[in-house]
Amino acid sequence: MKNISIIIPVYNESSNIRPMVEALHQVMAKTGYGYRVIFVDDGSTDQTLETIQQLAQCDTRVFYISFSRNFGHQNALKAGIDFAGGDAMISLDGDLQHPPELIPVLLEKWEQGYDIVYTRRRDEKGRDKFKRNTSNWFYRLMRRLSGLQMEPGIADFRLLSRRVADILGTFREQDLFLRGILKWMGFRQYAVDYTPGRRFSGQTKYSSRKMAKLALQGITSFSVKPLYISIILGIGFSALSLAYVPYIVWCVISGHAVAGWASTIMVIMFFGGMQMILLGIIGIYVGKIFIQSKQRPGYIIKETNMPEHVDNN
Ligand code: UDP
Ligand code: MG
Repeated sequence: MKNISIIIPVYNESSNIRPMVEALHQVMAKTGYGYRVIFVDDGSTDQTLETIQQLAQCDTRVFYISFSRNFGHQNALKAGIDFAGGDAMISLDGDLQHPPELIPVLLEKWEQGYDIVYTRRRDEKGRDKFKRNTSNWFYRLMRRLSGLQMEPGIADFRLLSRRVADILGTFREQDLFLRGILKWMGFRQYAVDYTPGRRFSGQTKYSSRKMAKLALQGITSFSVKPLYISIILGIGFSALSLAYVPYIVWCVISGHAVAGWASTIMVIMFFGGMQMILLGIIGIYVGKIFIQSKQRPGYIIKETNMPEHVDNN
């Protein structure tokens, strides 16, 4: 029998744990696969871990990996993939927004030979316009900068085959942006569209700030093109200032070369601001090199009941 690992990153989702497990049991029982449900507790501060532990005592299919603090959704997914085992793994959100009923479709595509079966969010009436628009802009920018064909609405609800997970396990990249990396990896990929459900309970853990951080991480870990902005702007402004020379010469010749304080300050401020922005962009990349050079792990596991992990220690 083939075994499927179901990976669920959770951060303060205590009231969603039981409904989630029940929904998964219902769906998976019909498929006939062996399976286990692995929660990755991303440093929750509520009763999430206790709820999972209680459940794990009477349900042998429930496992958990608990982080020492909040390391972020992408790192939680990576930990799940690193430790999951099984012939294939499926990751989904712990708030029932990724419909578990879609799992049999993902499995079917996997059986047909696809190594990565990912999902795209469609019909987003429930989502607020701001989130949808910013997400669409982001993917457009990402496509231009990275050259990867990333469609809008790609979700972290996906199936990965064993070999894809094994390859991912060798990655030591900080600031992992899975949606980009998986596109970049190749293999046969298949997209399934879905309509997101409503959050079962609790609030979104992705604030605008976290979204902006993820977007910036995605862009700067897939493209160095923003670094070229300075060269393009430099050339542009050099050309412009050259065009200014004849005007200055004319002013001197015609004898009214005084005044002009306001325009001088304007120019200084403009270029000052421009330099700040460009230094900031360079700074982000230098920071990435710094963080990466320290080779710190992306997450720290505090406790787990995963047998493989216990054996490893
Ligand atoms: N999540 C996490 N760590 C975080 C933020 C979120 O593990 O720092 C989990 C969260 O518990 C949920 C999933 O990632 O299972 C998606 O988060 P959420 O539903 O809050 O995002 P949204 O659906 O609003 O984009
Ligand atoms: Mg959600």
